Amino acid sequence: MNCLFCKITAKEIPAKIVYEDETVLAFEDITPQAPVHILIIPKKHISTVLEIGNDDHALIGYMFQVASRIAREKKVAERGFRLVMNCNHESGQTVFHIHLHLLAGRAMHWPPG
Ligand code: AMP
Ligand code: ZN
Repeated sequence: MNCLFCKITAKEIPAKIVYEDETVLAFEDITPQAPVHILIIPKKHISTVLEIGNDDHALIGYMFQVASRIAREKKVAERGFRLVMNCNHESGQTVFHIHLHLLAGRAMHWPPG
């Protein structure tokens, strides 16, 4: 499959991996938008949140747990952090394999741009 994040999962394209197990992978964003910018992805290919199925509930919840663990490890949990998942073009989604952005290390604005 011609999917960038599947290729990263398959180690065909390098990434700075910060966490990996059987079901999820977390790696540093190549164009960080904050001092901490990590992407948490399922190893299973799911193109957008619209394709999340009945069998994926535990996986999606687990992605959030992994994100919070990484936030603790990076010492940003107390300060705060933002978790974002973009869907389709107007949100800014550019890679069509779902990924949870973990952004931290600076004050975040609301509403987002
Ligand atoms: P989104 O715009 O929500 O689809 O986010 C895609 C993210 O993937 C962007 O923040 C990109 O900087 C990031 N990205 C694109 N290519 C790579 C790569 N090869 N390794 C790590 N992150 C990447
Ligand atoms: Zn994929």
